[in-house]
Amino acid sequence: MSSQFSGTPFSGVVALDGPAGTGKSTVARRLASALGVRYLDTGAMYRAATVAVLRDGVDLADPVAITHAVEGAKIEISTDPEQVSITLDGVPADTEIRAPETTAAVSAVSAVPAVRALLVAAQRELIDDGGGIVVEGRDIGSVVWPTARPKVYLTASAAARARRRAGEFGGDVDAVATDIARRDNLDSTRAASPLTQAADATVLDTTDLDIDQVVQRLLELSGG
Ligand code: C5P
Repeated sequence: MSSQFSGTPFSGVVALDGPAGTGKSTVARRLASALGVRYLDTGAMYRAATVAVLRDGVDLADPVAITHAVEGAKIEISTDPEQVSITLDGVPADTEIRAPETTAAVSAVSAVPAVRALLVAAQRELIDDGGGIVVEGRDIGSVVWPTARPKVYLTASAAARARRRAGEFGGDVDAVATDIARRDNLDSTRAASPLTQAADATVLDTTDLDIDQVVQRLLELSGG
């Protein structure tokens, strides 16, 4: 991979946090490609952990059993922005992690502190592996990598987020809006590292911006 910039290649950590439907995944991948760096989708890791929990038939109200299931799961994720993929116990799980039942359960799994500790440790190892990286999630700037620069919090109106999510994954816009609101509420109110805007994050409202405009703004913030 090479940077589109002729100067020094970007070697830092970009943190992109925010709720579902802000265009985070798409812009994060594009930004990583444009900077010539790696890309890490931490949401995919929580989703793969959730697939493992559902496979084990674990009670979602039992944090000890959830932790046990996640501890026994081998999650491997690619950090190539051109080739996103994730495996669970060596088997590709790219489709399963986006299944409605996974989406419905992921907030419960990601609220378990021991699960977060496991995945945050794995994320830090991947980030530390060398070279620049764009990392997207909910707690990257606040917990996973507080020294990230730039540290960006993406927002968009609830209507715009539901429209985008329905366009990307299908489904009725009203039903998607309800699901997003439910997940936002669970993700923001959980005790362990909730979705929050880091005090020093740059807020970027994407409601009236298209993907190219958001990527351009992020490139500027990354020094491009
Ligand atoms: O980004 P995505 O919508 O795929 O994330 C799925 C879920 O994973 C979120 O709703 C949240 O519960 C959890 N998550 C998290 N912390 C992160 C990334 C995702 O708790 N850093």
